[in-house]
Amino acid sequence: MNFNELSMSADTITVKTRLKAKKVCDVLIHYYGKAVSVRKLPPLDELVMTILSQHTNDVNMLRAYESLKERFSTWEEVLDAPQEEIALFIRSSGMYNLKAKRIQTALREINERVGRLDLSLLETMELEEAKKWLTSLHGVGPKTAAIVLLFSFERPVLPVDTHVWRVTKRLGLIGDKVSREKAHVLLEQIMPRSCIPSLNKNLVRHGREVCRAQNPKCDECFLSHLCVYYTRLK
Ligand code: SF4
Repeated sequence: MNFNELSMSADTITVKTRLKAKKVCDVLIHYYGKAVSVRKLPPLDELVMTILSQHTNDVNMLRAYESLKERFSTWEEVLDAPQEEIALFIRSSGMYNLKAKRIQTALREINERVGRLDLSLLETMELEEAKKWLTSLHGVGPKTAAIVLLFSFERPVLPVDTHVWRVTKRLGLIGDKVSREKAHVLLEQIMPRSCIPSLNKNLVRHGREVCRAQNPKCDECFLSHLCVYYTRLK
């Protein structure tokens, strides 16, 4: 196959994948709606909450977040507190020493760069620049950045959590071996822009209720006609 043929074939795959991505979006919106799940928390709260959510479930994360907010009135107080004290109040989230360090490191970097603990500069920053700004903070990856931008600023980004990653791989929208980090870039490229704000909510719901990690309910799934995993089962 020469270079031109290779390019044409790559283009064909891209067009097919984009068309399929649009169909997946349309079907998800048809069944689950277009509403965006927006927590409307201030961005620093969202950032800290996302650090707390690493490797734990929502219940433990929320317990740790609420405990932290009860003990400290401001993020400035959290920044100035001894790390061991932060760790004590976030124990329920697990990996508390590491998370306490990550929270204080992120707060310190923001304070140094902005001059205060405030992320409102992300509101008007160009989207790619805002992602870069956040992911350049120590310990902040693409998922955390996407969560802050989507949930606090309603920017059109797709956080790729374990459900989004699993469902999109099974559907064949991304390859089996694509990392979660790379999935952020690929999925935002292939998904229609208008669909992205509701996509996280819809894919997470589908992953929890239907396309579960163990025993996915393929026979009840309204996406089975678009699914590579389902085709392989037959
Ligand atoms: S058909 Fe099965 S594997 Fe495919 S999306 Fe539905 S539940 Fe998941």
